[in-house]
Amino acid sequence: MLNFNPRDIEKIDDDALRIVWEDGHRSEYSFRYLRQNCPCAACRDEWSGQSLLDAEGVARDLKASRAEMVGNYALCFAFSDGHATGIFSFEVLRKLCPCAECGPHPGSRFN
Ligand SMILES: [Zn+2]
Ligand SMILES: [Zn+2]
Repeated sequence: MLNFNPRDIEKIDDDALRIVWEDGHRSEYSFRYLRQNCPCAACRDEWSGQSLLDAEGVARDLKASRAEMVGNYALCFAFSDGHATGIFSFEVLRKLCPCAECGPHPGSRFN
């Protein structure tokens, strides 16, 4: 059973975020990677789960200007490309963890 409760959420760089989960697992995401995996209806087909986004078209130096808690179950990011409708539940974030142990996911190489 994966743990979906974050113990610590930290912006580690202009373009990266780290979440330490209650079970001690650490996830590091580039904002570009999060943007590429944005779960909102404009980026992902709600029925098929297919990405509607051109992942390679996302700027390499994408940043997040803002990160906000949504209730106590999700984070919402305002990305530097102006996109701010993605609500990333902690369950989604944990499943997106790009580390070697959790991967592979499409585009999950942390760079
Ligand atoms: Zn989106
Ligand atoms: Zn992981």
